[in-house]
Amino acid sequence: MFRQLHSILGLILLCIAFTAGATEGNTFDLLYRADIQPETGMAEVEIQLKGESLPRKLVLHLDPERHLDLEGEGELEVNGDEAVWHPQAKSASLRYQFKINEQKGSGSFDSRITDKWAILRSDKLIPPIAATMESGLRSKAALEFSLPDGWSSALPYEEIEDDHYRIKDPGRRFKRPKGWMIVGRIGSRQDIIDGVDTTVAAPLGQNVRRQDTLAFLNWNLPELKKVFPGFPEHLLIVSADDPMWRGGLSGTRSLFMHSDRPLISGNRTSSMIHELVHVATGIRGDHQSDWIVEGLAEFYSLEILRRTGGISERRYQGAVDELEEWGKEAPTLLVKRSSGPVTARAVGIMRQLDREIRTATDGEASIDDVARALAEDRGKVTLARFRRLAEEAAGRPVKALDKDNLRDGKP
Ligand SMILES: [Zn+2]
Repeated sequence: MFRQLHSILGLILLCIAFTAGATEGNTFDLLYRADIQPETGMAEVEIQLKGESLPRKLVLHLDPERHLDLEGEGELEVNGDEAVWHPQAKSASLRYQFKINEQKGSGSFDSRITDKWAILRSDKLIPPIAATMESGLRSKAALEFSLPDGWSSALPYEEIEDDHYRIKDPGRRFKRPKGWMIVGRIGSRQDIIDGVDTTVAAPLGQNVRRQDTLAFLNWNLPELKKVFPGFPEHLLIVSADDPMWRGGLSGTRSLFMHSDRPLISGNRTSSMIHELVHVATGIRGDHQSDWIVEGLAEFYSLEILRRTGGISERRYQGAVDELEEWGKEAPTLLVKRSSGPVTARAVGIMRQLDREIRTATDGEASIDDVARALAEDRGKVTLARFRRLAEEAAGRPVKALDKDNLRDGKP
């Protein structure tokens, strides 16, 4: 008996040694824990680090109105919107309070907690963190929630256990959760769509059409994935009624869409596809290239519907013609923020550019090649880069992106 126990013990020790050996020295455990407290409207957050070596220094970029009462083991210095933390020993933790509610200027919320649910972004809950650590060291990260009784959670990550998620953050050694999340008494519908683990979730009892949304995605997401084969493996769509933000907001692997928004609008564009394009590309504009980001999203919101048979060729061309007409109200595309007529004018430019590339290459290339290349690089897009990619696709200079085509001539 004793000998048997001894050999089992030996086997267990061997297993432990093997597991430790596989990850030895170059990884540390990074656990984000959040205790969601509806009675105070706060989340109590703890960042735990464990490992043989830990990062030497972490700089957290705080929102001083939302990240409060920081306390850390080891050296911690908080200065306005920056906290500098030096974790010590083989295990260290940092705690703070996070204020969940946030109202936009219009009075609607883009982050909200009630006594039944909370909708927020995990990349606000956990602020951006710059880590200084030895080369080769990387984190193995997870996010775990402690929730009131009867609450559940949905995030665009693999759920290892209930309310416990493995965090993927490609290209980052110090991983951090990102994107929309919902916790509470929620209803969700899930499906695998062309390899994308897709969930539509909303507070229970609200007027949200989860099945319609999932069907719409089954119908359109595969076509979008043809343009963007690198589309995330997880997708979470969060929806809710007033007083949440009355529109769509994209995030990493996720988006929020107000429950009142139709899947296809009166002008035949689709806010849902528009936000999905933002999820797919992950690009942002500089001081004069936001029209590229918004124009591509709006262009594909029509183009994908045309390709899936959602609208006929005639209705598609009519819709772009109408946008082009509206776009005449925008004297230039080269502005910091693209909306309304600027984005409408940008859609016309995208159609023109697509035609030009197709003609130049006898249909071998299209605007898809340009959009795909932008999505592969993500980050900031400039007009120069957009033009270079378009010219590569066309194999010659493109007229659609001449500066004179992007703004009206001086009177
Ligand atoms: Zn947009």
